[in-house]
Amino acid sequence: MVSFDKVNKWYGTHQVLTDITFEIPKGQVVVVCGPSGSGKSTLIRTINSLEPIQKGKIVLDGVEVHGPKTDLNQLRQRVGFVFQQFNLFPHMSVLDNITFAPIKIQKRPRADAEAFARELLARVGLSEKADSFPGFLSGGQQQRVAIARALALRPPVILFDEPTSALDPEMVGEVLAVMKSLASEGMTMVCVTHEMGFARDVGDRVIFMDQGRTVVDTTPEMFFNNREHPRVQRFLSDIKGQH
Ligand code: ADP
Ligand code: MG
Repeated sequence: MVSFDKVNKWYGTHQVLTDITFEIPKGQVVVVCGPSGSGKSTLIRTINSLEPIQKGKIVLDGVEVHGPKTDLNQLRQRVGFVFQQFNLFPHMSVLDNITFAPIKIQKRPRADAEAFARELLARVGLSEKADSFPGFLSGGQQQRVAIARALALRPPVILFDEPTSALDPEMVGEVLAVMKSLASEGMTMVCVTHEMGFARDVGDRVIFMDQGRTVVDTTPEMFFNNREHPRVQRFLSDIKGQH
């Protein structure tokens, strides 16, 4: 579904991604973690071309992401993106937030888009919030709307960039539960997260980044039993200290 082949990226002279190479098969749930500044956000933002790359190749569902002829509008409809800061449109109702792209970009009939949006709201447990405005929802509710909005374009893959980092602790679980149910339905997911319980229970694979490289790429079990990389052990003990 997603493949990276020797991907390199610089901001000016500062290299932030170095020789990133991996393949993510359909249906896999990949957790990306690593210290702050290691390049996790940059990495996932390259997948839907929110960031250019200078060397290497990324292919998404058969399409070369940074190819000169690639239609970015079309590509981005095939990648859901959930951000740390929800990024909902504050002046639109929950339902309008979810139907906006399907109606405006995909030209779907409003009635169909709304019916599907209501299905998605039921899936994230927010059926009764269709007519509410984002400012009246809790952070956890807003993030679940953001997930519903990402699903509205029926993307084959969803990217999450620290989706629970901006939430009060009591709301983290409800968002992780929605992500877990997506995973169990076979969605291909790339999740930047420091929720190691999620990595252990839901992840098929953990990629650990440090200084722009994928230092470890393995199963959750192997990752948590890692004795080889002091950097991983330090990271895991730092995370434990925070929780
Ligand atoms: P992470 O998500 O792992 O915290 P980022 O991908 O955000 O890391 O950042 C990786 C590196 O790139 C950091 O050194 C950061 O300072 C740098 N960086 C990120 N965005 C920009 C930008 N727009 N311009 C210049 N440097 C950036
Ligand atoms: Mg980041």
